[in-house]
Amino acid sequence: MQLVTASRDIFSAPWTTSDIRIMRANAHHGAAYLADLLGRSIASVRAQAKRQRISLRPPGRRSGTVIGQPRGVSWTQTERDREMREHVLARKFRVGAAERRIQAEVRGLATWCPRCTRRQVSVRMTGLCGVCHMKMLTEQHREEIEAIEAQRQLDRVKQQKKRLIEKEYA
Ligand SMILES: [Zn+2]
Repeated sequence: MQLVTASRDIFSAPWTTSDIRIMRANAHHGAAYLADLLGRSIASVRAQAKRQRISLRPPGRRSGTVIGQPRGVSWTQTERDREMREHVLARKFRVGAAERRIQAEVRGLATWCPRCTRRQVSVRMTGLCGVCHMKMLTEQHREEIEAIEAQRQLDRVKQQKKRLIEKEYA
């Protein structure tokens, strides 16, 4: 294992998609564990994790800077800052994906959602942003329920009419 580690570092073998996958899956074990697992130096693992926007933070550790936070910028000034930091720590807010969207926007490569015209298209199936996609799915669901309810109401009216006619000729 030591030899492998040494040789890989000397030739600085390129990172493969498999290496990245292993890193992502074991990120919570930290840099030292990954260095051993991948046969690379801790520094190399840290640098690659940063490049890939993979957090090597052990679960439960909350201090220090988080991915997406520039050096010297506090992320606790406002309630919104604190909430964003919390969501990054809980991995609810995916900084890497958000940064890619920002990058596309800055470079003028973003495709805007035709419904809200302010968020980028992210759902290929509908050509909408994620928020509008969910809103429209919800609307479709509502409409189907309303159609079923309308049909039931119609059935009830028909039944009532049938009973009235039957009563009339009884
Ligand atoms: Zn939208």
